[in-house]
Amino acid sequence: MTIDKSVLAWLDEQQAEMERVLPQWSEINSGSFNPEGVNTFGEAVQAYITEHLDVNVERLSMPPVETVNGRGDIEHKPVGDLLRFRKTNSPSEPKIKLLLTGHLDTVFPIDSSFQTCTMLEPGMLGGPGVADMKGGILLMINALRAIERSSVADQVDWQILLNPDEEIGSLSSAPHLASAAKEADIGLVYEPSMPSGDLAGARKGSGNFSLIINGKAAHAGREFHLGRNAISALADAMIDLEKINHGDHEITLNLGKVQGGGPVNIVPDKAICHFNVRVNSQEEADIAQAHIDAVVASFTDREGYSAQLVGKFTRPAKPATPQQNKLFELITDCGNQLGLSIAFKPTGGCCDGNNLAAAGLPNVDSLGVQGGNIHSHEEYVLLESLATRAKLSAMIIMRLATEREDWVL
Ligand SMILES: [Zn+2]
Repeated sequence: MTIDKSVLAWLDEQQAEMERVLPQWSEINSGSFNPEGVNTFGEAVQAYITEHLDVNVERLSMPPVETVNGRGDIEHKPVGDLLRFRKTNSPSEPKIKLLLTGHLDTVFPIDSSFQTCTMLEPGMLGGPGVADMKGGILLMINALRAIERSSVADQVDWQILLNPDEEIGSLSSAPHLASAAKEADIGLVYEPSMPSGDLAGARKGSGNFSLIINGKAAHAGREFHLGRNAISALADAMIDLEKINHGDHEITLNLGKVQGGGPVNIVPDKAICHFNVRVNSQEEADIAQAHIDAVVASFTDREGYSAQLVGKFTRPAKPATPQQNKLFELITDCGNQLGLSIAFKPTGGCCDGNNLAAAGLPNVDSLGVQGGNIHSHEEYVLLESLATRAKLSAMIIMRLATEREDWVL
């Protein structure tokens, strides 16, 4: 394919503008479970998109997410709205249909001390969400602007879906991801690349769970024998849960947070453990689920106790398939033409690319900026990657458009 050099040059010209916008976006707190902040950021993105692209806008309110609080009570927390942008005047056939996705939320809550951007060194900006993934959303939009100015504009149909709950597992937005995936031929997801610049290949699947143990409170001195200690029972359960890490497979179960108890002269009646499980396949997910269910079921025989499990597998594993590999080859090739050497590496991390793959959509899910230390206060973006990765996306879309017969389902 001959490269439309004017498209690439035009994206270079957007670099300064992207560098101006990104800190503004980063400094809007849009932590998961801060629905006002997520919606404020969504409005900023919507204003930017509608200024630069002809789109139909849909804003959908999402159902709240079920969580377990420190007292073991189930709460329903709001997450904010999902935004969907569709290209207006969708071209007539033939065309390739692309689904581009990103998330509005970050891992930094409204009371985080990490709320502002700092230039760490020339070309390296630190700030909440600069890499994961506000920079990615910004370059995605600019890649589409370039495509709409290019000779392939009439061969590409696209929609953008931005969800408010990716960092907490996309529980509320999952049905929308799945239905949008079914309408598209290829998915492009704007999670950051690896710090080295490599992209994510196969991804593990994941589930978040909370195990709530109910015992019976009693005075620790006078009536210890009448109590049923929820913490010691939970300790037994956690040791049992952990055993799956030593099986003949690659399942991992991480006990992430424990809550329960109060004054030490009271036998505690409630204890909660929150844990995350990662798997390579549906088969491993089934093995892990059966193991967890057996631990929970063991409490039915334990006099005076009860156990409740909340949570499930929300991200199916994203294995390397022939179609995925074909897409990765195309992207490696586009990278080479831009002078980028891109490799695809398997990762234990997961994202909405897992959900799109589970819905049958081949996708590449780390097309965002090059940066690092994500999910920490040291998060940074390499600013030059805004234009470079926008060019990579534009190249990929141009290739997909010209080779669409190979990709249209
Ligand atoms: Zn992310």
